[in-house]
Amino acid sequence: MPRAATPTPDPDKADLKELLRFLGLHKSAENYPAHIQAAEKGNWSHLKFLEALVSEEAALKRERSIRARLDQARFPVEKTIDSFDFAFPASIPRGKVLAAMSLQFLERQEGFIFMGPPGTGKTHLALAIGYAACLRGTRTLWTTAVDMVNQLQAAAADRSLHQALKTYTSPRLLICDEVGYLPFDQRGADLFFQVISARYERGSLIVSTNRPFKDWGKIFHDNTVASAIVDRLAHHSELIKIEGGSYRVKDRKSKMSTDG
Ligand code: ADP
Ligand code: MG
Repeated sequence: MPRAATPTPDPDKADLKELLRFLGLHKSAENYPAHIQAAEKGNWSHLKFLEALVSEEAALKRERSIRARLDQARFPVEKTIDSFDFAFPASIPRGKVLAAMSLQFLERQEGFIFMGPPGTGKTHLALAIGYAACLRGTRTLWTTAVDMVNQLQAAAADRSLHQALKTYTSPRLLICDEVGYLPFDQRGADLFFQVISARYERGSLIVSTNRPFKDWGKIFHDNTVASAIVDRLAHHSELIKIEGGSYRVKDRKSKMSTDG
């Protein structure tokens, strides 16, 4: 429910609580008496008192904006790098993954392509980077390639393609997961290309795929669109190849052995 609008207080008559509320500083409005008490007890300077009040409000604002970034990102689950076991994959360029976690690539409008068989942690790592980006306040969106193309196709039929494209072009970081699990028809491939092309050198893109580039002609209907897509992706993205068996299978096996 929306908060009832606070009537504009007269600064000469209103009390501090009312003024703080009017300014949207609800935490301070609630807590300033406690801060005053602490200040009196601890003989704080004016500066220290003000800092205590303001930093509490700032921490709350920061928390809220991170929560909003995480909600906007539409992650299917939250994953972090801490829960990723680098020892599991048969081969993974650990240095490249850790460099990605520093998020400097966002400054350069660059991206990553995670390539490897199912269950090797591509989605996990893409989500972990996305999570870190949200913590830093970066506008991020996660989608699967199929969902994105379906949304765009539905929007095109609805004459709202322009608006729908913005969904995928405006976030600073787009994570497009599962490229290659299902092939696209010509129209789908064109729409995918439109997103890649509109984001090219303007935003960062993380793609995950289970198919090597040589197979992309089969994903994107023909080799012309596929090579136009690969060309743009490869120009500013680093390839992170993961090799090995599926973590899901390992998980299932170890559960089965502990269950009996
Ligand atoms: P992919 O996207 O490559 O198919 P996922 O990232 O979805 O694989 O991984 C499948 C499941 O296994 C997820 O629950 C993921 O968190 C977990 N997982 C995969 N690799 C690792 C790993 N190296 N360490 C910890 N968990 C992993
Ligand atoms: Mg995946």
